Amino acid sequence: MDGMRVVGDLFGSGRMFLPQVVKSARAMKRAVGYLEPFMEAEQGDRSRSAGRVVLATVKGDVHDIGKNIVGVVLACNGYEVIDLGVMVPAEAILDAAVDEDCDLVGLSGLITPSLDEMVVVAKEMERRGMVLPLLVGGATTSRQHTAVRIAPEYTQPTVHVVDASRVIGVVGALLDDERKAALDAENRVEQERLRALHAERERRPLLPLRAARERRTPISWHADDLAAPVFTGTRIVEPPLAELRGYVDWTFFFHAWDVRGRFPGILEHPEKGPAARDLFETGNALLDRIVAEELFTARGVHGFWPASAEEDDIVLQTGNGDVRFPMLRQQAAHDDSRPNRSLADFVAPAETGLVDWVGGFAVGIHGADELADSFRAEGDDYSAIMAKALADRLAEAFAEWLHERSRRAWYAPDEHLGNADLVAERYRGIRPAFGYPACPDHTEKATLFALLDAEEAGVALTESYASLPGASVSGIYLGHPSSRYFAVGRIGRDQVEDYAARKGVDLATAERWLRPNLAYDPR
Ligand code: SAH
Repeated sequence: MDGMRVVGDLFGSGRMFLPQVVKSARAMKRAVGYLEPFMEAEQGDRSRSAGRVVLATVKGDVHDIGKNIVGVVLACNGYEVIDLGVMVPAEAILDAAVDEDCDLVGLSGLITPSLDEMVVVAKEMERRGMVLPLLVGGATTSRQHTAVRIAPEYTQPTVHVVDASRVIGVVGALLDDERKAALDAENRVEQERLRALHAERERRPLLPLRAARERRTPISWHADDLAAPVFTGTRIVEPPLAELRGYVDWTFFFHAWDVRGRFPGILEHPEKGPAARDLFETGNALLDRIVAEELFTARGVHGFWPASAEEDDIVLQTGNGDVRFPMLRQQAAHDDSRPNRSLADFVAPAETGLVDWVGGFAVGIHGADELADSFRAEGDDYSAIMAKALADRLAEAFAEWLHERSRRAWYAPDEHLGNADLVAERYRGIRPAFGYPACPDHTEKATLFALLDAEEAGVALTESYASLPGASVSGIYLGHPSSRYFAVGRIGRDQVEDYAARKGVDLATAERWLRPNLAYDPR
């Protein structure tokens, strides 16, 4: 345990990297496991614990790599961690915090709807008159969102923790009366500053939707830029893992472990190199096993339909009538010539008289939860986290592989690019994913999944439109050479009203799902 303290200090000061900490924690856990039968029972002795933290991924969200990493880092710094897992409702988190006499509540989330769920938890903590500090972390969380939306709902310290290397400092301070006051005061000043910045951004002008539409992406439509795919409707695909492996973008593998930098350069980095090389070797050794023993399976679906744009809607003609994807448009006012884009701009408008096509896909990697659980049962959190990180990589690789296959079946039969070009997306066409900046409405996944019959291919949605299994990816394919990614950004009430009407939902529902993009306070 003294050794772990050294590890914790080295990590805190940036001289050790996360994978090494998690590996060290495994060594300690195994040692403790060996010694336990020889030790006197000290169950329930809280004097040896630095504090007790309840951790959970909020309702509707399934990603937990980050949460599990934070749990390991806390545990190896002497904290007791009550990890409630994923998709945990507010009541269950707060009941556990009280029943288990916890000192802190930590929330994790990956997708934007979880941001709202965290606001729900904060409100409920206030309503219950709780006094525990609240920690917020995960991919879409930010110090801005925490300051603007979550902290105002809860009187007690509410702190955003950007990654695992910061959590020990924050938790240590919050559990020490003197340091807590200092951290809390500093945090409140910083959050006030962020709220002021946010308010300033809110005042930046937007174009009326009508004016934004007049500034659509200028495209002159030619039949040569459109192509008919070799099949219409959907096809299920089950590629061998060995084939997907060649499509992995390793840079993001290192990201998942908080070792940031580009692959393969990261392997030779003066400070991070040794940790990166070890991580790469162990990751690939486990991947060898996963491929050889078929511990994961890859299953997905893709499809193509004739389509046209009707104003800002993309409309697909299917055997069962039209399927409509209402899209959002950038409304930021700027004085240069940049257009105000919408993904609908990249599909031929009905009035051109041309026949365009749009595709869709959903892919998943199955088996990661089971493999991770079996590692965890052996006290091996390192391999459990590794299994999930590899599953995520294979899911993205699957999306890349299927996108290539789709382009070859559609407008690029002769395309042959290597991994580096694929990772850099040096090909024609894009695969925007709902929930991402060009199409931030997660609920559109319901339409996409129904269109693809994605459940048949083993991919499903939670009530917050996270997809299951956790390692899965979905989106639409747009093939026009001008197609590109962008961020919709802030949108005005005029567009939200128009969008709600196009989607057939009431304004409050549209505002709820588009909350991160609203340029106004819906209350
Ligand atoms: N190769 C990486 C990249 C995946 S992220 C990996 O393995 O993790 C890139 C994907 O995110 C894109 O293919 C697209 O599906 C989605 N994406 C990125 N930017 C987007 C945007 N602005 N709007 C919609 N989708 C976007």
